[in-house]
Amino acid sequence: MKVPLLDLKPQYQALKGELDAAILRVAESQGFILGPEVRRLEDAVAAYCQCRFGIGVSSGTDALLVALMVLGIGPGDEIITSPYTFFATGGTVARVGARPVFCDIEPESFNLSPAAVQAFIERGCERRGEALVNRATGGRIRALMPVHLYGQVADMEPLMALARHHGLRVIEDAAQAIGSADASGRRACSFGDIGCLSFFPTKNLGAFGDAGMCVTNDAALAERLEIFRVHGGKPKYYHGVIGGNFRLDEIQAAVLNVKLPHLDDWSAARQRNAAFYDGALAAADLGAHVRTPRTAAGARHIYNQYVIRAGRRDELRQHLADRGVGTEIYYPVPLHLQQCFADLGYRAGDLPESERAAAETLALPIYPELSQAQLRHVVESIAEFCRR
Ligand SMILES: *Cc1c(COP(=O)(O)O)cnc(C)c1O
Repeated sequence: MKVPLLDLKPQYQALKGELDAAILRVAESQGFILGPEVRRLEDAVAAYCQCRFGIGVSSGTDALLVALMVLGIGPGDEIITSPYTFFATGGTVARVGARPVFCDIEPESFNLSPAAVQAFIERGCERRGEALVNRATGGRIRALMPVHLYGQVADMEPLMALARHHGLRVIEDAAQAIGSADASGRRACSFGDIGCLSFFPTKNLGAFGDAGMCVTNDAALAERLEIFRVHGGKPKYYHGVIGGNFRLDEIQAAVLNVKLPHLDDWSAARQRNAAFYDGALAAADLGAHVRTPRTAAGARHIYNQYVIRAGRRDELRQHLADRGVGTEIYYPVPLHLQQCFADLGYRAGDLPESERAAAETLALPIYPELSQAQLRHVVESIAEFCRR
């Protein structure tokens, strides 16, 4: 039996008629850039995320990049973020000339630890006038950039309290987490100044290529995002600021407009698959070999990834590959130990929870269309490995 980590074909087959027609409509209109499909998607996604404004952009990475740009973050500035994430989170901070400051994660949720952020601010920073300054570098701390990893919201209440107390902006990296919510029902992207979404094909709401969006409740930031998206020109060809080409294509928006009404069903199917794994792996009594993921009580986890921890992770991964089960390691190297960030001066051992996660985590197939037989095969293959 084959169980790929992800198979996008059944979703396409189910919606093929509507998707093909939507793409053809754009082809016939020959209007490719920032038209009615993009505007419709922006309104619908913003509402879905409990936000007032959506600004469609070219990718999740560009959503993060343009969010940093409109907040005026640049050289001399520092952003506190998670080291246990996809590269774009830290990469975009460096690309605007700012410095990422990595604080460790909570081992249960894999998300940025508010306690670690607080400890860094209390021990490593001081107030100078209006500014919160990193004593070690002299840089000014400007923002927090929590990541809602795997589809579970970070612990936002204490993070927002820290941000308010210290006058910091908050950019949410919700690339994996559209529609996820905390126990009070507040959704990813609705907490901070700007929420950043990715519609990369492997995300829960995936385009036919690259696409992303910034969402916000701040009208002035929404206007700035629109201006920066088109090179900072307003009116056209008159540039008060320097932006970039961060536009979203009509074809991608048309695809996403067809898919968005199905997103809740897909996320519910992922939750059912996760519940099956939780139950079946617990019942298999695998002892300390494998630990299943934890969700905060009452929270809505949308399971872009279902990630277990395993002591002999790499051997388990090979065993599953031999049994036809696709897996992936998100992520094998935390950002503070990436070669390109060596000049930041971090060393192995500095952020132990992130390093442990990088050594232990393994993502299992979780996409909505998995069959019961496939799910059972994954669990039986894991159990077989653990009993050996
Ligand atoms: C996918 C992802 C991004 C980048 O999104 P792209 O659309 O691929 O540019 C950023 N952050 C996280 C956490 C992601 O998973």
